[in-house]
Amino acid sequence: MRILIVEDEESLALRIKNVLESEDYQVKAVFDGEAGLDEALAEEYDLIVLDILLPKMNGIQVLKEIRHAGLTVTVLLLTVKNRVEDKVAGLDAGADDYLTKPFAIPELLARVRSLLRRSSEVKTSSLTIGDLEIKTSTHEVRQQGELVNLTTKEYAILEFLLYNKNRVVSRLSIAEHVWGDNFDLFTMTNFVDVHIKNLRKKINDDHEKRLIKTIRGVGYMIKDEE
Ligand code: CA
Repeated sequence: MRILIVEDEESLALRIKNVLESEDYQVKAVFDGEAGLDEALAEEYDLIVLDILLPKMNGIQVLKEIRHAGLTVTVLLLTVKNRVEDKVAGLDAGADDYLTKPFAIPELLARVRSLLRRSSEVKTSSLTIGDLEIKTSTHEVRQQGELVNLTTKEYAILEFLLYNKNRVVSRLSIAEHVWGDNFDLFTMTNFVDVHIKNLRKKINDDHEKRLIKTIRGVGYMIKDEE
């Protein structure tokens, strides 16, 4: 994970840098707004810790430019107490969170961790294959934008296949994943076949180029089109 710190109080910037590096993040610190913007546009970061009151260009302007350039990088703004207008402007400009100065380092770390976790969840919450898209947060399945109604088990199988895209998944591991290990092996592997059959019907997967491939004697695989 790469983090950029834009903070003109050099001692604070370097203290944050050291702490984050000790947590195995890759960190760069710059000390004015222009340098921050240049760095944000030049390199790919997972998170930017951005002070608002900065020389050369303030944090809000930097943030606006970053968003204007189409970057969705997570931004944690450092604000000064009692500057409510900064918070409002920051939100409007596309900040993800705030931390009010002065703050304790553990508080900063907690924010950084949760922001990074949130952004990685957002990134992986949608899985797609061909014209099919599933949202793992809501269990919503869409095909060509149209909602597809799946049962809980059908959804679980589809999601499991998608998490293992381009890899063969045995009927046994599907059964284990969907029903847990309290099942009768023979019955459940047959259940898998029945559910796959129903799933294929619902996503019209009965034509020549199937999304869900049967791997004879082993199990199933969802595969990207070559
Ligand atoms: Ca400052």
